[in-house]
Amino acid sequence: MRLNYDAVVIGAGISGLTSALLLARRGKKTAVLEAGVTLSPLMHGFTRKGVHFETGFHYASNLEEGGFGPYIFAKLGLDLKPFPLPREGYDEIRLLPTGRVFKMICGEGELQKKLSQAFPRESVSIAAYLEKTAAAIAKSAYINMQNGGGDFDNIIDSPPTLQEVLDAHFKSPELKAILSISSFLHGTPPEKISFAQHCCIACGLYKSAWGIEGGGRAINAAYCAALKNAGADIFLNSEAAEITQEGNQKIITLKDDRQFACDICVAAVHPKIFLRIAPPEVYREGYKARLQNLQETPGFFALYGVLNQKTFFETGNIFVVKDLDINKIFLGDGKSYYINFSHSRPQAVSIISLVPPDSWQRGPDYENQKAAYVQEIKQDIKNLFPQIADNIEYLGSSTPATMRAYCGYGGGYGLMHDVNKTKILPMTKIPGLYLTGQSVIAPGFLGALITSLVVDRVIK
Ligand SMILES: Cc1cc2nc3c(=O)[nH]c(=O)nc-3n(C[C@H](O)[C@H](O)[C@H](O)COP(=O)(O)OP(=O)(O)OC[C@H]3O[C@@H](n4cnc5c(N)ncnc54)[C@H](O)[C@@H]3O)c2cc1C
Repeated sequence: MRLNYDAVVIGAGISGLTSALLLARRGKKTAVLEAGVTLSPLMHGFTRKGVHFETGFHYASNLEEGGFGPYIFAKLGLDLKPFPLPREGYDEIRLLPTGRVFKMICGEGELQKKLSQAFPRESVSIAAYLEKTAAAIAKSAYINMQNGGGDFDNIIDSPPTLQEVLDAHFKSPELKAILSISSFLHGTPPEKISFAQHCCIACGLYKSAWGIEGGGRAINAAYCAALKNAGADIFLNSEAAEITQEGNQKIITLKDDRQFACDICVAAVHPKIFLRIAPPEVYREGYKARLQNLQETPGFFALYGVLNQKTFFETGNIFVVKDLDINKIFLGDGKSYYINFSHSRPQAVSIISLVPPDSWQRGPDYENQKAAYVQEIKQDIKNLFPQIADNIEYLGSSTPATMRAYCGYGGGYGLMHDVNKTKILPMTKIPGLYLTGQSVIAPGFLGALITSLVVDRVIK
């Protein structure tokens, strides 16, 4: 069976859903193919014993009224309702080597004041640094689309790195750790991420921090409704195995032998999956070899639990930092945690640590190793939060192998956005075949969305 479309998008993550929506709204007869059983499995999350756990979306910045998010949601016809996280303590940072606890606060003036009180000797540099982050965000064409965008050719992954800027401003390792632990939000260590990219993804939180009502499932539902409105067809359980060419047409053959023919094909999958399914002539050999060698962001080991009705954390997230050199955490030793407390009652808790992306292969020892590691984390949590030790019920865990099964890769945010990396280009040597996704321009919910908005500009 071969179905004919103007455009076919492979992969229904946020990037693919955005590309499909943009193509369908341009009047193209569009299909989106997803290997998994739901739209954007990363966003979908899962439910255990009636408690829902978020997986790929906890919070974001730039969702204030008049900001980039709501502007784009309206433009794409996405019915999404952001809600603000607590202004003080949306992130709580616990530095274990020194015992310092710092609660982030929204509002650049307030943050500057609070940081200066905590680090009085660095107050002049704190003001200069925060000014620099605000300037980097203001200059970004990507998150200022509502103001006309500007120069999209500006290179977001260029030096200096976050670490270079921190080192140029500050002496205190504690302060540098506080200002760089949010690298958890893109998965690239401070010494590799560009300052501009880090600011766009993480520093908008200095202004305001947001959740979205209904979380990842509401995001998927909004895309599903908008795609249906725009006349696009969605095919779940549809894993693309090969892309070939017949004249100007691209033929996508699925694992189960179904075929789709189209003029425009957008692959919204991990670049290494793309190289596996694309025709060999998609790029020059040297470029393909360089892409194959790009480094993955660390993978996630996550433990999921629920607190009893009486115990409730008002804070959004807690970062437990075991090494003041945040770069070391990104080697994936699994010893620092990002802990997310949902707003549900009873409260769902996700405890996430960074581990190497290719670790945790399924095999005879997998379950035993996993159980042993879960015990280690539980003990850590008991030591860190004795007040919840008897009030938490653990309901599940996941490893990079789980993520590989759901999304095809184990590196949490795809490829690292390393300032020195080979640029990943959306255009290929095959006319009408394009690549998008969080690895191309920027990761995160808004990063993936931005990537596809920008890639759409080159799609003919
Ligand atoms: C644990 C975790 C927490 C996160 N928390 C946040 C957060 O709080 N805020 C935030 O903004 N971002 C967060 N993110 C990041 C955000 O979820 C991602 O950056 C974004 O969803 C990536 O979207 P994507 O479409 O680029 O990639 P993906 O979602 O990976 O989409 C690729 C899709 O392609 C499908 N696919 C793969 N191969 C094939 C094939 N051959 N044929 C068909 N389909 C295929 C996959 O199943 C997948 O659905 C988090 C990510 C993780 C892992």
